[in-house]
Order: sequence, then structure tokens, then C-alpha cells
Amino acid sequence: LKANHVIDQLTVIAEGFAAARSERHTRRYLDPEDFNLLAEAGYLNAGLADDCGGLWRNLPESIRDYCRMIKTLAHGDPSVALVSAMHPAVLIYWMHCREVEDAPDAWQQQRNAVAEHVRGGNWWGTVTSEPGSGGDIMKTKSLAEIQPDGEYLLTGDKHFGSGSGQTSFMMTTAKASQDDPPAIYILDVRGAPIDGSTGCTMTTEWDGMGMTATQSHAFHFEKFPASRIASMEAMIKTGSIASALGNGMFMSVTVAIVEDAISMAKDKLGARADSMRSFEKVEWTRCVNEMWTIQQVYQGAISAVENQEGALPMARAKVVIAELAETCLSRLSRVVGGASYARGMPFAQWSQDVRALGFLRPPLPLAYDQLFDASFRN
Ligand SMILES: Cc1cc2nc3c(=O)[nH]c(=O)nc-3n(C[C@H](O)[C@H](O)[C@H](O)COP(=O)(O)OP(=O)(O)OC[C@H]3O[C@@H](n4cnc5c(N)ncnc54)[C@H](O)[C@@H]3O)c2cc1C
Repeated sequence: LKANHVIDQLTVIAEGFAAARSERHTRRYLDPEDFNLLAEAGYLNAGLADDCGGLWRNLPESIRDYCRMIKTLAHGDPSVALVSAMHPAVLIYWMHCREVEDAPDAWQQQRNAVAEHVRGGNWWGTVTSEPGSGGDIMKTKSLAEIQPDGEYLLTGDKHFGSGSGQTSFMMTTAKASQDDPPAIYILDVRGAPIDGSTGCTMTTEWDGMGMTATQSHAFHFEKFPASRIASMEAMIKTGSIASALGNGMFMSVTVAIVEDAISMAKDKLGARADSMRSFEKVEWTRCVNEMWTIQQVYQGAISAVENQEGALPMARAKVVIAELAETCLSRLSRVVGGASYARGMPFAQWSQDVRALGFLRPPLPLAYDQLFDASFRN
């Protein structure tokens, strides 16, 4: 199975989604049927490395395909695209690290089991963020208690679990004790009730103004069964790869939204282009310039990863695009006028959707700390 083949199928699916855009914009929930379509198109294989029959080769060779898959989907439905992005974004640990030295047998066993679950049609997501952590994994407070059989029981508060209810497995972080560094854990949430009866309570149902239909709910886990990542070496070695892939896919959602917003505005405004007032002409031209800049930054970051320039260009691109997209869509609303506020039009929803990129890990305060430090190192 080739990524191009999957992208072709996603293009057709996304066109169908886009045709129902006005109804989709009112959605608060995910439709499992959408995810069945994506699975039939072979998208779940984006969570597997090629040696397991999947689409992933390595970061430089795969980044463009992965960004294209998510951007294609986002042209149809940004919420579905964001949730879909989480699947490879968390499976990357098992995709990237094919062999380890610290726990070779346990790693192969876990890698095979994870691949088997993906091949079985299961979606993966993450509920790593903790309230008050500002998206910083190092501030994880959740605890994972080891059991005699080597499995764990996880206790803690987690939020923003995009795709909750749609996913079968959620990746998260916890510490074995308050003095230990956080590690990755897998939660098997297939059929798990959310009333606390088996240790998982939904504390806040997702009510975001943007990315409205992502089911990014908050949960309290109380001694909920969890499996630890089998290799700390894999976790450490994959960190920068995971960051580049995640940033790349998240920004792809935003780039698609900006392109769709400008394209729709062009259709609406074209007929009165000649009679636009000076202010509208200047603001519109700025919008188009901002979209152009966003597209250049997007392409530049992908090329930098392909040229093996590390994860930093993607981190920088994510921040630049987050800020530019927000400005561009606010500006666009001034040119489109009052219609941009209508619920029946997608502009207001899109303005909120692109704001999500500034919150997605690393959220802006954390991202700026990292970029500030890097600016004196490089
Ligand atoms: C659309 C979207 C999708 C995301 N998807 C994921 C994901 O799949 N997995 C993941 O691990 N992280 C996800 N994140 C979280 C993201 O990566 C950051 O960790 C998070 O946004 C950081 O939040 P913060 O800076 O506000 O800091 P925080 O320290 O998290 O502070 C947020 C504060 O807001 C409060 N709060 C949060 N939600 C609500 C609510 N609904 N109602 C009332 N109060 C609330 C919290 O209790 C906390 O006090 C997502 C974020 C967004 C916006």
C-alpha cells in the first residue's frame, strides 16, 4: 500500500465531507461512519511502519506524505483531520524505533502487539495533557503504580483527549513515583465506561468554540489499567521525531483551513472586487499575502525536515503559522463583512479552529521558551 494511493482516496472522501460543510459546521460530535470510511481507504496504516505493512518509512521520507494526508482531510473536515492526525502522532514511537538495546525482546513483543491492534482496525489517540501543566509533559503529576503482573494502575487528571470515544487506545504519561521522570503509558479504552465504574470518569465533555467536533474530553483516572512503553530508549530516541511529525500534521490542518477560507471569500467577493473600498482592498491583499507566507513556511518546513535539518524548523513553522493564520482570518472577517459572523457561514468557525494550533502541544508559552533557548544555541 502506497501513501499516494491513500491520499487519492482521502481526496475523494474529503470532497464528500466538504460538500456537506454547512451541516458539518454545526456538529458537536464525531461520526464513527467518517472513521470507517478513512479505515477503508487504508488510513489506519499511517500508524504502521513499512516493515509492519504500513506507510511509514522514516521522517525525511515520510513527512510530506503525512502532511498531505492530513491537509487533504482538513479540506473536508478540520475536526476529523485533527483527530486522525493523533493516530500516527502517538504510534510514532513504535513506527520509528524498530530495534532497541535496553529491552530488545519486550520492545519487539510490544511493537508486534501494537501493530496487531492497528491492523485490527483500532484508532489511537492521546490524552496526555494535564490541567495546570500548560502542555508541559515534564509537569505530569499522574501516578502509575506497578502491579505484581508487571502492568500498572494509573491515577490522575487528564484533559483534551481528542477523539475520545472514537479511539480504542489512548497514549498518556505518568510517573512511577513523584521523583521519577514521566513515561508513556497505553490505556486500553475499548468499551470502557466513563462513569467511573472501572476507573475512568469523564469530568468535562469537550465544549470548545473551535475544533468543536473533536470530542477532546477531560477525564479522571482512578487506578485505571495501563501498560508502560516497553523501552525508555525508544521513548527518548523518538522525542524529536514525534515533535516534528506532530507539528507538521497539526499545522497542515491550519494551512488547509486558511486556503479554504481565502478561496470561499474570493468566490463571495469576486463580483464586487472593483467596487471595494480602499480599506477592503488593502486588507484583502494582506490576507492573500498572509496565506502565501503560510504556504511558503509550510513548504519550507517540510523541505527542511526532508533535508534532515532537525525538528526545529517544524517547531518554528508551527508557531509562525498559528499566529499568521489567526491574524489572517480575523482580517478576512473585516473584508467579508457581517456575513462572516453568520452561523450559516464557516468563517467564524474557521477563525476559532485555527486558534487551536496555538494551544496544541507545544502551546505558545512552551513553544516560545523552546524557540528562545534555541535561538542562542544555533
Ligand atoms: C483543540 C485541541 C485539541 C487538543 N488535543 C489534545 C490531545 O488529543 N491530547 C492531548 O494530550 N492534548 C491535547 N490538547 C492540549 C494541548 O496539547 C495543550 O496541552 C493544552 O492546550 C495546554 O493548555 P493550557 O495552556 O491552557 O494549559 P493548562 O495548564 O492545561 O490549563 C488549562 C486550564 O483550563 C481548564 N480547562 C480545560 N478545559 C476546560 C473546559 N472544557 N472547561 C473549563 N475549563 C477547562 C483546566 O482545568 C486548566 O485549569 C488539545 C488542545 C486543543 C485546544
